[in-house]
Amino acid sequence: MEFNKTKRGSIRERNDEQTVYDILDAGFLCHVAFQFEGKAMIIPTAYGRFEDKIYFHGSKNNFTFNQMCNGQVSCVSVTHLDGIVFARNMFHSSANYRSVVLFGKSEIVTDNDERLHALNVISEHIAPGRLNDVPLGTATEIAGTMVIRFTIDSATAKVRDCMPMKDEDVPVEVWSGILPLKLVAGEPIQDEKFGKQFPITDAIKTSKKRFK
Ligand SMILES: Cc1cc2nc3c(=O)[nH]c(=O)nc-3n(C[C@H](O)[C@H](O)[C@H](O)COP(=O)(O)OP(=O)(O)OC[C@H]3O[C@@H](n4cnc5c(N)ncnc54)[C@H](O)[C@@H]3O)c2cc1C
Repeated sequence: MEFNKTKRGSIRERNDEQTVYDILDAGFLCHVAFQFEGKAMIIPTAYGRFEDKIYFHGSKNNFTFNQMCNGQVSCVSVTHLDGIVFARNMFHSSANYRSVVLFGKSEIVTDNDERLHALNVISEHIAPGRLNDVPLGTATEIAGTMVIRFTIDSATAKVRDCMPMKDEDVPVEVWSGILPLKLVAGEPIQDEKFGKQFPITDAIKTSKKRFK
């Protein structure tokens, strides 16, 4: 994996493989950017990571994934917003965050073993352990699913995780600091359409703990 170089705010650059992977593994929603007929397009989608590969899945007719696999280099970005940084003026106010920007090419996965592996990776990434409770899908559903492998060619990570900076000389006596922000799971809500109560499984508990 090669690293891109940030130009501004490079003090926040954390270009090591582990940081990139930690940021990718901390979430499962990314935005993919690609070109279509000279226009830039950005689409949100779920993903799973395995080594230096990002797997996506969707319908075989998925426009985004088909475009990503036409030989072009596309861009994948993930951001976790960790807080609003309130400095002693707005100029030095900021945000705490962890983000990555990846460039690479994508291919449709055709090998059946890799397709199943990728679908497992995505499932485990989004809902760890849920495959112990439920099947992946029927053979027909799986056959109708397009699986994409995006290989990370180059990556940049930026992390800001500190108090306000450079506002020491602002002549205003006022509270300053960080308002932490995070994604928090609520109480699980059971689907009532089966007319019966079921116990919450370990997978649901794991997901709840992950976002506490
Ligand atoms: C959290 C999250 C996870 C998702 N995970 C997956 C996934 O794993 N697999 C998957 O196939 N899809 C996923 N989606 C849906 C995804 O964003 C696309 O809508 C879907 O993949 C269809 O893409 P397409 O290129 O075929 O869209 P098309 O139907 O061809 O899109 C037509 C136009 O609709 C608009 N559009 C498309 N998607 C969106 C959107 N999400 N929001 C607003 N406008 C849009 C764009 O302008 C686009 O040009 C996810 C969305 C979210 C928010």
